[in-house]
Amino acid sequence: MPTPEAALLRRLPSVDEVLRSEPGRAASERFGRSAAVAATRLSLAEARAALKAGAGEAPAPPAIGTAALARLDADRAPNLRAVLNLTGTVLHTNLGRAVLAEAAVEAAVLAMREAVALEFDTATGKRGERDDLVRGLLAELTGAEDATLVNNNAAALMLVLNALCEGREAVVSRGELIEIGGSFRLPDIMARSGVRLREVGTTNRTHPRDYRDAVCGETGLLLKVHTSNYRVQGFTAEVGPRDLAALSRETGVPFVNDLGSGTLVDLARFGLAHEPTVAEAVAEGADLVTFSGDKLLGGPQAGFVVGRRDLVARINRNPMKRAMRVDKIRLAAIEATLRLYRDPDRLAERLPTLRSLARPEPEIRAAAGRVLPALRAAAGPGFSADIAACASQIGSGALPLSTLPSAALRLRPVQRKGPPLQDLAAAFRALPMPVIGRIEDDAFWLDCRCLTDEGAFVANLSALIVETGA
Ligand SMILES: *Cc1c(COP(=O)(O)O)cnc(C)c1O
Repeated sequence: MPTPEAALLRRLPSVDEVLRSEPGRAASERFGRSAAVAATRLSLAEARAALKAGAGEAPAPPAIGTAALARLDADRAPNLRAVLNLTGTVLHTNLGRAVLAEAAVEAAVLAMREAVALEFDTATGKRGERDDLVRGLLAELTGAEDATLVNNNAAALMLVLNALCEGREAVVSRGELIEIGGSFRLPDIMARSGVRLREVGTTNRTHPRDYRDAVCGETGLLLKVHTSNYRVQGFTAEVGPRDLAALSRETGVPFVNDLGSGTLVDLARFGLAHEPTVAEAVAEGADLVTFSGDKLLGGPQAGFVVGRRDLVARINRNPMKRAMRVDKIRLAAIEATLRLYRDPDRLAERLPTLRSLARPEPEIRAAAGRVLPALRAAAGPGFSADIAACASQIGSGALPLSTLPSAALRLRPVQRKGPPLQDLAAAFRALPMPVIGRIEDDAFWLDCRCLTDEGAFVANLSALIVETGA
């Protein structure tokens, strides 16, 4: 005797029956037969589980077809989604760091769509080198003799260490043994590059004699690392790049300066704190300088190495270079971004990173004011909305202690035991274009520094569903 449950389960339609139903046919037509079959199987499995759990009746084929279609529809959105970064951190690593300039976007699209002269000299018809596309530009903008580039600055550093110092010692101050995010820790990078770490000095103080005493026959290079995401303050001493360059000349040991963020223009001219530029680091006598493409530079992810021609040549001969080289799409965007630096007067207009960083507070406040009524209406009666002063951060470890005065939309629950702010933040993340803010001081903050398309922000808000949590 079959159990009543087994009888019910037998009444579930077959995959074929579902695919012959109206929504089943629509699913096949729109998403292809194999995707429709897979979604139908999942929906049938769900119905089977529901029946076993005591749900009354077996659903008919169209009901399963509709469920399968909804499943396919929901999964259609790309996993990598555009979001609105209102966190107040302009270069947010988890949100993709720099937003690229229009010129870079266009160049990248062209490189995707057409065949390009990537390693081909159109003048001679002979083979070329991909680095040649940006070599001259990098030399011009940094004053360095030569340049090479790889996937990111972590790769640049590994490559430099391995090419110049494998099996030997790199001398680094204990005050500069940085960690940038869990997987970038300088001692680990060194070990993986086949380099022995020779720590000198102490956490807070390192003197020229510490480096001098450490240099021996085993020394492969002197390394200075920009303490990007922290500052050692108080009773401190560090050895500046000029002193290290002097020691390098005296001992013949190359000096490498890892700038991290690395900017190509003096940020002070845009009202920001001064950050050492790459040209300064080159002029101060570093043999090689390494820096990122997608931090203050405002381009795509990349790692640059600029400096002495003979050392760059050694790096380019290292097989790791081939494993870390950048692709044509990125190279196109890098070249276009670098070209913008030839006209620093118009840089803040053209480079979104700099435009955001240099945006004056009154302008941000005015933008916040214009969208406030729409925000108030969307958030509903459970929250009060106002504009509050806040401090934006540059992010990605650049200028960690300097913040930029900004203005935020601030939402606070009207009642003490109001709806949780976590739910409010989740509702903003669930918008068609997810809006990412931050929770602080019992409020939800949307820093408007990176809000540029106010119309799109307001239109997006109309889809906000806030639980009143009554
Ligand atoms: C950010 C940073 C790196 C790593 O650069 P990526 O481009 O993120 O790989 C290395 N060194 C310093 C000092 C940095 O600030």
